[in-house]
Amino acid sequence: SARQHNSFVRGNGPRPLFVGDGDGDNAGESLTLAQMEAFCGELAAGLHRAAGVRRGAVVAVLLPNSVHYLAVVLAATMAGAACALANPAYTPRELHHQLSDSGATHVIATAALYPLVCAAAGLGAHAVREVLVLDRRPPAPDALPARSVFDVLDTAAFPRMVLRTRGECAATMALLLYSSGTTGTPKGVMLSHRNLVANTLQARAASAGSAADAGAGVQLAIVPMFHSFGMTFQCLLAPCRGLSTVVMGRFDMGRFLHLVESRRVTDTVLAPPVINALVKMPAAATTEKYNLGSLQRAIVGGAPLGVSTAAALEALMPHLRILQGYGMTEMSPAISVNPSAARKLGSVGPLLPNIEARVVDDAGRVLAPGETGELCFRGPNVMMGYLGRAEATRETIDQDGFLHTGDIGHIDSDTHVYVTDRKKELIKYNGFQVAPAELEALLLQHPRVRDCAVAGVFDDARQTEVPRAYLVLDPDADGPAVAEEVVAWLNGQVAYFKQLRGGFALLDAIPKSASGKILRRLLH
Ligand code: ATP
Ligand code: MG
Repeated sequence: SARQHNSFVRGNGPRPLFVGDGDGDNAGESLTLAQMEAFCGELAAGLHRAAGVRRGAVVAVLLPNSVHYLAVVLAATMAGAACALANPAYTPRELHHQLSDSGATHVIATAALYPLVCAAAGLGAHAVREVLVLDRRPPAPDALPARSVFDVLDTAAFPRMVLRTRGECAATMALLLYSSGTTGTPKGVMLSHRNLVANTLQARAASAGSAADAGAGVQLAIVPMFHSFGMTFQCLLAPCRGLSTVVMGRFDMGRFLHLVESRRVTDTVLAPPVINALVKMPAAATTEKYNLGSLQRAIVGGAPLGVSTAAALEALMPHLRILQGYGMTEMSPAISVNPSAARKLGSVGPLLPNIEARVVDDAGRVLAPGETGELCFRGPNVMMGYLGRAEATRETIDQDGFLHTGDIGHIDSDTHVYVTDRKKELIKYNGFQVAPAELEALLLQHPRVRDCAVAGVFDDARQTEVPRAYLVLDPDADGPAVAEEVVAWLNGQVAYFKQLRGGFALLDAIPKSASGKILRRLLH
């Protein structure tokens, strides 16, 4: 019958690659390797035959994290399309930008997100012909035609092209990922089949030899799968490492901790704000309430993480090793990952295999090892380019093939990478450059500071930029008085040019992107 997949059964046995966390849409869902292969093959054939998806097309995927996420992405690439991954929290305007920029002809979404797709489509030009919903029932018709994904599944044989590293297909776009938009409008980053396979293998080399590789590990997936970091580490890497992945559809800290205990989770991928929140919570709500002893590794990246915040979490959970990773969408995304043994303090780890580095000054001159400047990298994981932005691509990838990250830092003689901050976010105080990330890491160490951000503001009297702190304090703190005390405490620990001459502002929350980055343009 159409639902018998015996011909695909091999390897992994009945252990699911992806399993739901038992909440909402994810309740009871699970996919073994065999089921996933069958679903991918049938959906790829269905996309081709029933939906008219052809080689070179772009299929947008608008889904919350789910058991089927990777299967849907792979099916679209098997049908020869590139997948543009979209954030389900987008407003109609943001989604419209991505749909029209990517030229997507099909959207795969949940029935609950169908109205958002229709609202986005109503805002202007786009090429979307049909929405395929990942639910058994199609929603009531609105502005765009909709069908259930399960109605297009096709069991007839189909020439498959799962991520390929050789031949013509290797250089074909597989994913169109959008950068986080921290410094401007998100750019469409074209990643080829070869880019993705290369980076998955590069990242795997950094985690080889761990217990999970024996095939017994369990990963808890919470970071967004539409972001490059979540896609590579959580979706592509985990199955290669033999991990079984429990998928949380939406994040809730209490439920996260409960799942670590009940599913005996060994591995997870976290964004820095989650680590900060865990460190700031009372032990009565974390380690004293739940048995978290199974947790061995947390890969953390996407934004700066202070050394003391990482150390505080490891002190709370001595069985846990935090592996800091550094990357960017344009690098598919991983550049370096800190191994669990022999870590260097403050470093985001040694370069992954096959990555070469250069550090350049403002004039583009190559600096000596150890000198600080803009970090540039070359390797098989450097993107194909930005979609429809030839000029921006030329400015980012130089003639030697090195990608200019826009990040400032240095690399030691042992290829360990140290990231200071983003070039665009450094605060220029008179002749000095101040890195907000350094001051933020310090501020977070203050017991009354829940969260914080630092940004430059222009001081007319001094005619220079000065650092200003944005503070989220303990709810019972006497705001302004405690903030004064925090500012004085910080100023006592840093050189005079880094002091918070711009004062402070009190906030209820720091605006952050889905990948955990502070959105400084929203602070002023
Ligand atoms: P946009 O390019 O649209 O402004 P973005 O650069 O924030 O957005 P991403 O590709 O998601 O989009 O993020 C990559 C950036 O994240 C890096 O260039 C770097 O500044 C930051 N980053 C990632 N990992 C780390 C880390 N471990 N430490 C410090 N910064 C990091
Ligand atoms: Mg960027």
